[in-house]
Amino acid sequence: MKIAVISVLLSLGACDNSTSTDQAAQKPEAKQNETSIVGNITDERIINHDGEPNNWMSYGLGYEEQRFSPLKKINKNTIKKLGLEWHLDMGTNRAQEATPIVVDGIMFVSSAWSKVFAIKAKTGEILWQYDPDVPKDWSRRACCDAVNRGVAVYQGHVYVGTLDGRLIALDAGSGEEVWQVDTLIDRNRFYTITGAPRVAKGKVFIGNGGAEFGVRGYVTAYDAKTGKQAWRFFTVPGDPALPFEHPELELAAASWSGNEYWKFGGGGTVWNSIVYDPDFNQLYIGVGNGSPWTRAIRSPDGGDNLFLSSIVALDADSGKMNWYYQTTPGDNWDYTAVQDIALAEIEVDGEQRKVLMQAPKNGFFYVLDRSNGKLLRAHPYSLVTWATHVDLESGRPVENPDYSYLEKEKWVLPGSAGAHNWQAMSVDTEAGLVYIPTQESPLIFAIADEWKQFSSYKRNPGRWNIGLEMGRLAQLFIDNVAEQPTPGGALKAFDPLTGETKWTVRNPYYWNGGVLATSGGLVFQGDAAGMFSAYDKENGDLLWQFNTYTSMLAPPVTFQLDDTQYVSVLTGGGGADLFGGETETASTKYGNLGRLLVFKIGGNEKLPVPNAIDRIIPQQSVVVVSENIIGEGEGLYNNYCAMCHGLLARSGGSIPDLRLLTDGKHEIFSRVVLEGLLATNGMAAFDDVLSLDEVEKIHHYVRARAYEDRAVVLGNKESARLTWLSNQ
Ligand code: CA
Repeated sequence: MKIAVISVLLSLGACDNSTSTDQAAQKPEAKQNETSIVGNITDERIINHDGEPNNWMSYGLGYEEQRFSPLKKINKNTIKKLGLEWHLDMGTNRAQEATPIVVDGIMFVSSAWSKVFAIKAKTGEILWQYDPDVPKDWSRRACCDAVNRGVAVYQGHVYVGTLDGRLIALDAGSGEEVWQVDTLIDRNRFYTITGAPRVAKGKVFIGNGGAEFGVRGYVTAYDAKTGKQAWRFFTVPGDPALPFEHPELELAAASWSGNEYWKFGGGGTVWNSIVYDPDFNQLYIGVGNGSPWTRAIRSPDGGDNLFLSSIVALDADSGKMNWYYQTTPGDNWDYTAVQDIALAEIEVDGEQRKVLMQAPKNGFFYVLDRSNGKLLRAHPYSLVTWATHVDLESGRPVENPDYSYLEKEKWVLPGSAGAHNWQAMSVDTEAGLVYIPTQESPLIFAIADEWKQFSSYKRNPGRWNIGLEMGRLAQLFIDNVAEQPTPGGALKAFDPLTGETKWTVRNPYYWNGGVLATSGGLVFQGDAAGMFSAYDKENGDLLWQFNTYTSMLAPPVTFQLDDTQYVSVLTGGGGADLFGGETETASTKYGNLGRLLVFKIGGNEKLPVPNAIDRIIPQQSVVVVSENIIGEGEGLYNNYCAMCHGLLARSGGSIPDLRLLTDGKHEIFSRVVLEGLLATNGMAAFDDVLSLDEVEKIHHYVRARAYEDRAVVLGNKESARLTWLSNQ
């Protein structure tokens, strides 16, 4: 059993030359049997994926994206002997979120910085790898780390969207670039691509993210062979002085009001779910939150703000809208509807219906009729306080006025991380259940006093523009800590038709991995504590567990080679978790060890047992500085730094924890921030938005945090949470 370390292979130039030569030699023979083309996945193969269950050919397994595999050699009887067969060090300590594609015995998987790997699925041998050379300082434009959720493989090509907004087609056999296009309408705005492209009908579909910074959402279809643009659908209206790009925007524009919303971009980014439905030749796009989040600032005279937080059905050939359903009219909480969409055919109220299902951030589980978008069910699948229920007649949620945060700050459930996020669920149509990685992660929502004249809100380029009181967030937590709902995570077996939860497995921490279920009677999930687990899908009983020593977010996949079934998962936590540094997750304890793990019955490979990393905060030199300066530094830190380095300067493991800086690093602090000394690591220069004086205030805040947390840790660990502020 080999362990391939990518950095070593890179330095040796050790791509598998024999394989690339073979592929190159085959290319000119155009008349060869088409199935011998590497990665020759077609629409027909994806549609008929049940006929070749050995492969995992598209993001959610089939176009239905149910992530329920019929494979069952790994089952309740054999699971005890499941062991690691091989693992690959992915050469990153950033979060990993990808779903691998497995076909022809090759695994195609993306990693941090939009890198792509083709790997022999049986052994872990790297066949080729591709680095799109994303400018490392682009990570400043990413809300949630330099992640990538996967590639698409189609007709001999591998497609990847890059963090800096390109869509690239590679030859599946050689990894050579075939074409690339710039998908961005404005490279000065903070757009990123982290989602997996989808493929169907000779086209590749891709969206993007960036709503927190202020962008306008859209999705684009490209010709799969040439990269030529086929159509583009904008999810929110643009500048009203200009003509509508397509007729649907006239309808959308009527639902927005005042405050020059188009200057903020409007949001509505399609950063995750794009699902093709062969039954209706439709594409469902999951549309994200508003920009800024607060609707009173975004659209002060009201309106639903179409097509924010909506599922929109588009004709796959033309990009014309067939119907839409808005989950959260006038989104006010970052309630994206970008979470995975699954298609199914099930009996609803005595009638066989073609439905789609989604558990968006807002806490309700939606079942819609795919033919027309009619709402069939919307039961809560987690704790929800912002609305009392969804009215099935009107299809609209009934908001709870007690949780309005216009006047005073309010804890709201779900928080901005959602009751469920992009971490995939699995749909079990036989059992009538959906296995959902859920969370209760409350957020305190508040508007700064100076913005309560809504027109006074100004967009600041280069930082989050969410319309919430970010600068005083920690103080708001402290002032309201008594009312804070307890955060937690849970894997649930949920009945979307009745709203009942059949069983619940509580996770040790709230932010966990995606889910895979199989006909072997198993539900697999990796968690923040580093445990990769298999549960009995009947009752949630824990049947098997493997310690990976790293937090997980990525959904597992399964495949079969000859007669052997495998299960695979990527490790590496982080992503959107602002609070990662507050608890002892595997990644804060051992570091974020980015790996690809592959298991089989009888596998006996061992992972090296890591040492716990030294997280003792170094002694701080005494700097006398006023509380005002520290307070100003906190506001700046929360606005510019917290989304990567964590709230309260407590990082979750994948990005450096600034409280652990040593004297040498303190000396160069302002140069790192202003001059980009560490830009090649992904720490961009901020000299366009921060002055030296402001950076010094941030530095004082970071040191105050280190000083306080060190004192608390050395003294009374139990009261560590937030003590430094309450002591002031
Ligand atoms: Ca968002």
